[in-house]
Amino acid sequence: MTFLDYAPAPESTSILHLRTSYGLFIDGAWVKGHGMPFASISPATERHIAEIATATADDVDAAVAAARRAYDRTWSKLSGADRGKYLFRIARLVQERARELAVAESLDNGKPIKESRDVDVPLVAAWFFYYAGWADKLDHAGLGADPRALGVAAQVIPWNFPLLMLAWKIAPALAAGNTVVLKPAETTSLTALLFAEIVQQAELPAGVVNIVTGAGETGAALVRHPDVDKVAFTGSTAVGREIAKAVAGTGKKVTLELGGKAANIVFDDAPIDQAIEGIVNGIFFNQGHVCCAGSRLLVQENIHDEVVDRLKSRLATLRLGDPLDKNTDIGAINSKEQLDRIRELSDIGEAEGAERWTAPCAIPENGFWFAPTIFDNVSTSSRIAREEIFGPVLSVLTFRTPAEAVAKANNTPYGLSAGIWSDKGSKILAVADKLRAGVIWANTFNRFDPASPFGGYKESGYGREGGRQGLAAYLKAGK
Ligand code: NAP
Ligand code: MG
Repeated sequence: MTFLDYAPAPESTSILHLRTSYGLFIDGAWVKGHGMPFASISPATERHIAEIATATADDVDAAVAAARRAYDRTWSKLSGADRGKYLFRIARLVQERARELAVAESLDNGKPIKESRDVDVPLVAAWFFYYAGWADKLDHAGLGADPRALGVAAQVIPWNFPLLMLAWKIAPALAAGNTVVLKPAETTSLTALLFAEIVQQAELPAGVVNIVTGAGETGAALVRHPDVDKVAFTGSTAVGREIAKAVAGTGKKVTLELGGKAANIVFDDAPIDQAIEGIVNGIFFNQGHVCCAGSRLLVQENIHDEVVDRLKSRLATLRLGDPLDKNTDIGAINSKEQLDRIRELSDIGEAEGAERWTAPCAIPENGFWFAPTIFDNVSTSSRIAREEIFGPVLSVLTFRTPAEAVAKANNTPYGLSAGIWSDKGSKILAVADKLRAGVIWANTFNRFDPASPFGGYKESGYGREGGRQGLAAYLKAGK
């Protein structure tokens, strides 16, 4: 069978007006960082995008001091309705600059433009709109009358959803009346810096939002800073553990959103066509760089062959390549380090005896790429069934009974998310009840809504982001 090929449909980058170098955004102004600047590159081409400043411990100190002043003098004195007006303004500016933000995100992160355009950026606006609406209604957040902000929040985020993770952190913090210092990931600082421009455009009082760029050391200096009241971290379990130790006994309030190894459970009575799309979306969305990705497919034994065959045919149609092309399904891996990790764990999977299948697709010459891959006949003890690969790699396991599905799904140190595919509502509810995961999707996967709380159990962290629950992480209970 021959397929008609698509003509290239690249999104233009002419909408971007990037500077050649970026400083730190502290106290409402751009200032120089005192560390060694670093380059941000496009992972699809390895081309240089811009030079980014590194914040030293002294720069972090200046940012925290600015956030403290802004908290004491302006932000804590505003009414909730006034804070809400600023957040609505930010939300509208994100919508106005949506195309530019999507192009910048795809360029810097490597994710397909159809995802940054249709998922990331619309959700960023939705998060600000949602929390803008809460700013004057905190008395109804379930924390008593007149709950109080905590003060200065230190926020550290990863590279997989750079602008969206920023929104998850900043929107509830500001709505609740806190001021923030945020550190984006080293490989994806660009959209946080464009967001700083939006903060200026929205005329937020100086110091309410501060952005400090740099590597892990900058993050460590921020979370350890003695004048920080709250630490919000999204990233790996290893760094989360270090942060938990660093803040233990300090009185800082902490939320940790860490890794995952979600089970996507497909029963033999599931709508198979939908399930195939859900499995694909569950693990190949954003190249599998998703903490809640459905990386372990648990399929009922009697439909295993059919599901795996159909999955392979579907994966063979996915288009891997230029993230800025509107037809691209699978973009670039965010960094060389991440690509090396995916390769290493995949080789281990093969050495441990799992059957490896790779989608037939041409890999571009430059940049970091990994073709969609399935491992079949994976045993529960295999490292690829236990460790987070954080890439486009699916491990397939089978089960015979719902009890076995639950036991295998829960056999993980993580507990962030899970999926269930079945025609029977009663079975879905019974199984969901027994799964130890913070978020459970039924007959869908990777759906996000600002009104819905998100977070994990066990090594996936603690605390919830999103919804009314997400406000509690930034408030002290009132009377
Ligand atoms: P990471 O290495 O833990 O980095 C996360 C952030 O922490 C980055 O900004 C990083 O800076 C910074 N950092 C590194 N060392 C630090 C330290 N000692 N103290 C303070 N900050 C430090 O994680 P990643 O590899 O970027 O992201 C992938 C991980 O995030 C995966 O495990 C994924 O599951 C998890 N994640 C979880 C959620 C969730 O909601 N549960 C959402 C998305 C991602 P640099 O990048 O500059 O080194
Ligand atoms: Mg980059």
